[in-house]
Amino acid sequence: MKKQTLLIALGGNALIRKGQEGSVKEQFENLKIPIRQIARLSEKYKIIITHGNGPQVGNLLLQQECCDAVPKLPLEILVAQTQGQIGYMIESTLDSALMDLGIDSKHHFVSLITYVVVDENDPGFQNPSKPIGPVYTKEQAKLVPYPTRKTAKGYRRVVVSPEPVTVVEKNEIRKLIDMGFIVICCGGGGIPVIREERSFHGVDAVIDKDLVSAKLAEEVGVDIFIIATDVDGAFLNYGKPEQKLLCSVTSEEAALYSDQGHFPPGSMKPKIEAVMRFFTRNHGKRAVITSVEAIEDAVAGKAGTEIVNRHIRNTSESQKK
Ligand code: ADP
Ligand code: MG
Repeated sequence: MKKQTLLIALGGNALIRKGQEGSVKEQFENLKIPIRQIARLSEKYKIIITHGNGPQVGNLLLQQECCDAVPKLPLEILVAQTQGQIGYMIESTLDSALMDLGIDSKHHFVSLITYVVVDENDPGFQNPSKPIGPVYTKEQAKLVPYPTRKTAKGYRRVVVSPEPVTVVEKNEIRKLIDMGFIVICCGGGGIPVIREERSFHGVDAVIDKDLVSAKLAEEVGVDIFIIATDVDGAFLNYGKPEQKLLCSVTSEEAALYSDQGHFPPGSMKPKIEAVMRFFTRNHGKRAVITSVEAIEDAVAGKAGTEIVNRHIRNTSESQKK
């Protein structure tokens, strides 16, 4: 039977939990939780793993601010570095998990440095809005050579967050999953590049990892889209005493709740938006927002916020009639 394709987008918290120092030991330990589940799922599904890099790229930015002895690296190079470091950590954890399960892990996975094309006319370039890296005082913020903005934590550098136009390696990714490889790609949203005829050049920007995952799902033809984060799913009135976990909502209901302001930009809103795009552009079948602990349960329909593609549900309902 043809295996369905599962895309699992891992949040940055899959590696560094809130309140942790973020040592490599902690990151490896945290990764075991999603990766063991993914190893088991790989027996039944073709798997693509995408991942965030917020805390890791933040640490690299901080490291280079602490050192003037070597030239500073642009953001696109730091994103590439985090794809390498996190790809390595996921691969090595996956290797152990597959071995523990008795699955021959030789040549079963590959991580891919991924470029993502963005449009140089993207309106985002007029308004850098995504906070990254260390927190500054007002005085420090005046001295750094890039735009900063006051956030809840303090002053931070802000960068452009452009729309993903296309994943450059989509054909390779499709071929690799068809050959049975688990593919780790689009780390940190991918390395943002602008196309110049037949070549590319990188830009100082950060692409949202949930939106790039939806773009990849569209371009590769994914069946099930799982967004794994540090909460059980999407809540109404999140953080308030009356907060309520949404178990199953139609895409229309989710859009309505989004318009009502239940899902803030930069955290839950892009996840909901990513699912909408997955349904409309890819005719995706299933999408669940869940915790990293409950990935398998979410695939089984027993955990998380399942967003129901009303079109597909209506079709199956009308077939039943
Ligand atoms: P990730 O790294 O997984 O993308 P984010 O921090 O971007 O994680 O998004 C997950 C966070 O969204 C949660 O930790 C939670 O604090 C926040 N959040 C904001 N609004 C909601 C909501 N309505 N439902 C669930 N989580 C929400
Ligand atoms: Mg996020």
